Amino acid sequence: MLEATLRGRFKLKHKGPVLVGDCVQMHEHRDGSTTIEEVMPRTSLLRRRAPGKSKGVRNLAANVQRIVVVGAVRQPDWEPNLIDRFLAIAEVNNLPATLVVNKCDLDCDPGRCAEAYRHAGYLVVLTSVPEQRGLDDLRCVLEGHISLFTGPTGVGKSSLLNALQPGLRLRTADVSRKGGSGRHTTVAAEMFPFGHDGFVVDTPGLRDVGLWGLDPQEVSAAFPEFTALSTNCRFDNCRHLEEPGCAVVEAVAKGEVAETRHTSYRRLLDESADAARHR
Ligand code: GDP
Ligand code: ZN
Repeated sequence: MLEATLRGRFKLKHKGPVLVGDCVQMHEHRDGSTTIEEVMPRTSLLRRRAPGKSKGVRNLAANVQRIVVVGAVRQPDWEPNLIDRFLAIAEVNNLPATLVVNKCDLDCDPGRCAEAYRHAGYLVVLTSVPEQRGLDDLRCVLEGHISLFTGPTGVGKSSLLNALQPGLRLRTADVSRKGGSGRHTTVAAEMFPFGHDGFVVDTPGLRDVGLWGLDPQEVSAAFPEFTALSTNCRFDNCRHLEEPGCAVVEAVAKGEVAETRHTSYRRLLDESADAARHR
């Protein structure tokens, strides 16, 4: 670990702060101190719009190549709406997403959680920490990339990373018996090396996905299986709600698209339209 400060010159040149994931050029001074001189060009930028009526965009992480969304079959309960929100963030940031269904040891049919997402084209990995299930597959996903690990609290993100890389020793939180939800353990954005040439980023800025602001246009783009079907909708500007001849609604009726995905879509669309009205 190396501590470095920002040069005054740097602060003037760059408006934003250095982000987790940034590649920087540093200078070591004779007195032993180190300063950041330059931020190298970013290959990706994960950003969030401020929620609701507030304006502005916040940059969260740089150079992330993949978002890994983790959910649990139970404890806490599998919540499609929440999972879909995390996936939507990956989509609007143009980052590929992988879904991890953890705690498979707690359910006799964990595949039920995966089905809708496999249909949508996502890579889904079923895992269990005590049974060591799916860990090799997950390791393959994380190797060689900068991945951002995210998902609801208490689903086992830290436990999975610890199991994959025992030296990491991330703090894990016991799920409180009351609401079935865990405590927050990480407060600052972090990035740590994974395997030979991978990195994992964790940023609390991604946790409160309920407060994430999306544009109405962004919402339909956030559901890739809808985009693929929409060329068959009767109307070019179909919103996939009550329009006649909507290929998405038809696919839901036929069971080719999960009803829960369409419900999440409608909820996100309602929220974004509401927020846009107030902006
Ligand atoms: P995080 O908030 O997502 O980082 O979740 P933690 O890693 O802190 O895990 C929350 C709780 O779930 C801890 O008590 C873990 O021991 C437990 N846990 C994690 N993974 C599994 C799993 O695969 N199966 C079961 N049964 N429990 C797990
Ligand atoms: Zn449609």
